[in-house]
Amino acid sequence: MGGAVATDFQAIVVGTGFAASFFLHRYLALAPPDARVLVLERGRVNDHRWQVANGRSSDLSSAESFRHSGMAGKSWRFTLGFGGGSNCWWGNAFRLHPNDFRLRSLYGVGRDWPLSYDDLEPYYQAAEEIMAVSGPPGMARVLPRTQPFPQPPHRLSRAETALQQAWPGLFFPVATARARLATSGRSACCANGVCEICPADAKFTILNGLMSPYRDPRITLLLRAEALAVDIGAGRAGGVVYRHEGREMRARSDLVVLGANAIFNAFILQRSGFRDAMLGRCLHEQLAVTAEAFLDGLDHFDGSTSVSGLGYMLYDGNHRRHLAACLIETVNVGQLRAEPGRWRQVLPLRLIIEDLPRPENRVEAADGERPTAVFEGYSPYALRRLKSLRQDLERVLAPLPVERLEIAAEPLATEAHIQGTTVMGDDPADSVVDRDLVHHRVRNLLVLGSGAFPACSPAHPTLTICALSLRAADRVQGADPVAVHARRGGS
Ligand SMILES: Cc1cc2nc3c(=O)[nH]c(=O)nc-3n(C[C@H](O)[C@H](O)[C@H](O)COP(=O)(O)OP(=O)(O)OC[C@H]3O[C@@H](n4cnc5c(N)ncnc54)[C@H](O)[C@@H]3O)c2cc1C
Repeated sequence: MGGAVATDFQAIVVGTGFAASFFLHRYLALAPPDARVLVLERGRVNDHRWQVANGRSSDLSSAESFRHSGMAGKSWRFTLGFGGGSNCWWGNAFRLHPNDFRLRSLYGVGRDWPLSYDDLEPYYQAAEEIMAVSGPPGMARVLPRTQPFPQPPHRLSRAETALQQAWPGLFFPVATARARLATSGRSACCANGVCEICPADAKFTILNGLMSPYRDPRITLLLRAEALAVDIGAGRAGGVVYRHEGREMRARSDLVVLGANAIFNAFILQRSGFRDAMLGRCLHEQLAVTAEAFLDGLDHFDGSTSVSGLGYMLYDGNHRRHLAACLIETVNVGQLRAEPGRWRQVLPLRLIIEDLPRPENRVEAADGERPTAVFEGYSPYALRRLKSLRQDLERVLAPLPVERLEIAAEPLATEAHIQGTTVMGDDPADSVVDRDLVHHRVRNLLVLGSGAFPACSPAHPTLTICALSLRAADRVQGADPVAVHARRGGS
């Protein structure tokens, strides 16, 4: 690929979503005053006002940006444009469970991560502070933490409070970046349930909470600039080839950082000529299904945010040897009952089941212009849990006055997470990047995001994406991880 040559940079970062923005935040805190960083963003800035007025998070169609093949009815969702998925996410900001990182060693299935929960803990904390995450102190019993949540917990509904009393230490108010208390850039969450484009601007987004990197004079932000390929020569990344205003351009840099999400990161590498055995492989996400528990005389919908409770009753344990972990969300928005006086006696649930990544699920670059996401199906491990859900849920909900439990006949087409395709590991034979998100062979190339996840976890991925990006920025600049504590909040 040819084109005009732009000027040289210390680093080129592709994308402006969570992965790229959290990386930039930490990278700039450590970079010299004269550093020059180019950020290439495929979309444009659609600010909060534009999003509310237009009822969508971007002017670009994500559905048209890739092809799908394989399992009928399966889909993948994301937002293209400045801020990426932060514009449309729901703000559920969960840590993974410590045992998610050692699935193979503990339970003999899937893969271990090359790093541990403890390695990530200070970075989880730092990411939660940037997003002002709200959560309860008691959650530390399941997900250990060194500092309290930055914001107090959301209020549970009456039905959820009963569930919490029945399952002490396993059911909690949610951990979320939907503000419990107003911050300088965000209102408090009003539980309207319109979270994809929050009218109150209460959830964390890059636009309302992490614009500092883009105001830094060391950054050049180029919008409508689509990265096409990484320039590779003599085993090193020399820069990025990109398309801007119809022209193909080339920018040179010492470091290349891809933060374009797990579909596009893999596609960009494939177009650049990378042939790693695992590149594009193990595309995966959770299998999710919704349910409703109809209650006798117990009200719901008085929680203070849209997804208000989080249950770990079906999550970790020896069952994971043969049965996938399932995370239970109790949802504080939904359809009321029709019977007079009983409108609120229903508890909507979302059951999120981990999958075991399968190599045959993949991203391909068969069409040079658009990636193809090939999904053949979920693992038997996940499907077994789906099959046992009624029985499992009846047990979990037994302490509540449940009249009737309705579980959706079909799982959701997507949980809106995209994981795998540039898996991290210690062995270049079965992974693409190392634990610092550095490509095994091309050592000045970083591949950020949930593409690196070697195992699924039922927990939502974004907080972990952010923690990994903060850590990668430290590691690439040789910073002592302990220094994260000292710098927290200061940069
Ligand atoms: C409706 C919805 C709700 C969600 N809710 C939650 C939730 O509650 N909790 C949770 O943990 N996760 C949630 N997610 C998932 C979350 O949005 C993603 O995990 C997260 O956005 C991934 O971050 P990222 O930075 O890796 O990628 P993205 O956020 O997808 O950012 C990628 C960026 O790269 C840009 N880009 C892409 N290709 C190129 C290219 N070739 N050149 C230049 N730029 C490019 C994009 O425009 C974008 O800015 C949700 C997703 C959706 C769709």
